[in-house]
Amino acid sequence: VVSLAKHQNGGAKTVLWTSKNFRTQSGDATFLQAVDFYFDKAAAIASVSPDILAQIKACNNILRVQFPLKCSNGTVELIEAYRAQHSHHRLPVKGGVRMAPNVNGEEIMALAALMTFKCAVVDVPFGGAKGGIKIDPTKYSLNEKEAIMRRYTSELVKKKFIGPAIDVPAPDYGTGPQEMAWIKDTYEHMKSTDINGAACVTGKPLEEGGIHGRHEATGLGVFFCLREFLNDQDLVKKLHMSPGVKGKTFIIQGFGNVGRNLVDIRDPAKILELPCDVLIPAALESQVHSENASRIKAQIIAEAANGPVTPSAEAILEKNGAVILPDLLLNAGGVTVSYFEWLKNLNHIHFGRMSRRMEESGKKVLLEALEQEFESKNKLSDDLRKELVKGNTEIDFVWSGLEETMLVSWANVRSTAERKDCNYRTAAYLIAIERIATCYRVNGIFP
Ligand code: GLU
Repeated sequence: VVSLAKHQNGGAKTVLWTSKNFRTQSGDATFLQAVDFYFDKAAAIASVSPDILAQIKACNNILRVQFPLKCSNGTVELIEAYRAQHSHHRLPVKGGVRMAPNVNGEEIMALAALMTFKCAVVDVPFGGAKGGIKIDPTKYSLNEKEAIMRRYTSELVKKKFIGPAIDVPAPDYGTGPQEMAWIKDTYEHMKSTDINGAACVTGKPLEEGGIHGRHEATGLGVFFCLREFLNDQDLVKKLHMSPGVKGKTFIIQGFGNVGRNLVDIRDPAKILELPCDVLIPAALESQVHSENASRIKAQIIAEAANGPVTPSAEAILEKNGAVILPDLLLNAGGVTVSYFEWLKNLNHIHFGRMSRRMEESGKKVLLEALEQEFESKNKLSDDLRKELVKGNTEIDFVWSGLEETMLVSWANVRSTAERKDCNYRTAAYLIAIERIATCYRVNGIFP
């Protein structure tokens, strides 16, 4: 296993970035064009009228703000930031806030659209949104980042772009629990009468109303889904592989601090092209493009990142016999557990508090099952182990809820792909489009 990052969402405070990572290669669609392309492909086989399809596809609101930051060295810098709300068919709208130097309106709109479709695929009752702050977070002190996050939140509050019933941010590339704590604190200061204030953001630290397992959720969701695929005799046989996770080689691409210091790789993009069974792009969009797609050796591409494969790259990979497990399904574990956190906050009680503590034997069975899942005791994090030994039913709730969600959603995507004779991405978009269309149809048009 070559791991270049822990996972996409987890408190990535030291993400390194080079302009190369973001560039859309010539001949490839831009990120937003790619999302529209994938949407249109599925829309063409959906039983949905053109007017509803047009409503679903369009991004409803996009907010662009600019505000000054007083830097530690006394200078003043203008900060540019965004929040896009793609679809309000369900409320609140939901999606992370990223910090990266190339953030732009189009990218945030594409990411917001992916949130809409992702939530629909895993049946999480939210619309889609996404935020972005155009900075390289590694270049700012903690105090500066706090000032940026608080001012960004205050802009969202003033413009009514945040609230437990309106729009609920979460971590994304370059942000983590600390940033979410600042969002919550700022919101609660400005909206002190909102008794549900803690539910204005998810991915918070545990002490601030977060939930056990949110940090691991995206990676764990990827694992659950990948495990199902690899255990499916029929599917892996088509790839001339033996079933099971054991014995397979994986490459996880991410540019976080951990991975970057782990191996001495001159060109991190080259990691994608090394021989392996499963390639997991877990960093940013458009990483696999028309120029490098033919050199990818992996037969399974598991999209832990949002939009890592461009449409031209997808065509090349599929022509070479590779299978893509799409972002809409694969990385939806994060927002699924965000949903649990939001519910927990609205209930003002943590899961498990009202239920009987787990019996000793129950705890043992759960612990054994989880360890077996990871096939090695070392892989279960110490924190989780401690909580399990204490009999923390919140963890049990989150893990089983996440696993169930991923398994049911995967089964749905798999059978839709078979029924419609399309790839998994088109199947996932199709499921999303038909579910959202039902909402639009039943809701009607206001006024
Ligand atoms: N940023 C994550 C994503 O892209 C999580 C969003 C959320 O939890 O709202 O799915």
